[in-house]
Amino acid sequence: MHEDLQALYKVQEADSEIMLVQRALHGLDKGHAELAALQEATEKHTEAHKALQQATRDLADSELEQKTVETKKKLCEDKLYGGRVTAFKELEALQQEIAALDKRRGDLDVRILTLMDDIERLKPLDTAARAVKTKARLAHEAKVAAHAKRTGLLNAKLEELYRRRAERLPAVSAELLRRYDSIRSHAHGVAVGRIDAGRCGACHTNLPAQTIHCVKHDMGLRTCDNCGRMLCWGSD
Ligand SMILES: [Zn+2]
Repeated sequence: MHEDLQALYKVQEADSEIMLVQRALHGLDKGHAELAALQEATEKHTEAHKALQQATRDLADSELEQKTVETKKKLCEDKLYGGRVTAFKELEALQQEIAALDKRRGDLDVRILTLMDDIERLKPLDTAARAVKTKARLAHEAKVAAHAKRTGLLNAKLEELYRRRAERLPAVSAELLRRYDSIRSHAHGVAVGRIDAGRCGACHTNLPAQTIHCVKHDMGLRTCDNCGRMLCWGSD
């Protein structure tokens, strides 16, 4: 019994470490906050970039239309002053068209100036939003890399612990192991308390002298009256 319990205690040591490593793995920062920041920065940059692109396209369209208006006006003026059109109504229509083209040209001048101002304002916003996005991307990448590295280390540790547990397991009887698993399931993963200075190593309650005596002299399995865990004698 004595050796069996010592071997079981060693299994428990591995199990406790396994639990700690699993908890650490579970609690690792996967970079959710960085991902959220990156998504937000990406959206903001997309918005800023779209606004700049739209203004640039609008400017190009307006400049193109301005050229078309000028060409049309030139054609009308050539007709008007060319001497070939003499009918009053036709001349009047040409004058009206030229006036309309002048009006359009004026409107386009205003629009082009406004768009140029817009572009000057939007360019630095686009640049700043891109810089924020790049910074967020790098922060996220760094977090993901750190997470991968830490996960790798913890998984390697876990493998080592499983190996250690498997090595220790054959020294424990099947019956004791069943009892161990049963107690562990409702005792926060700890089924064996090693007696330490007269106390249960698991719940730290003072133990009766008789119990200590029995455990020390290997007189059968004893459990802690307080926590119900199996008791073993303290030695390595
Ligand atoms: Zn106890």
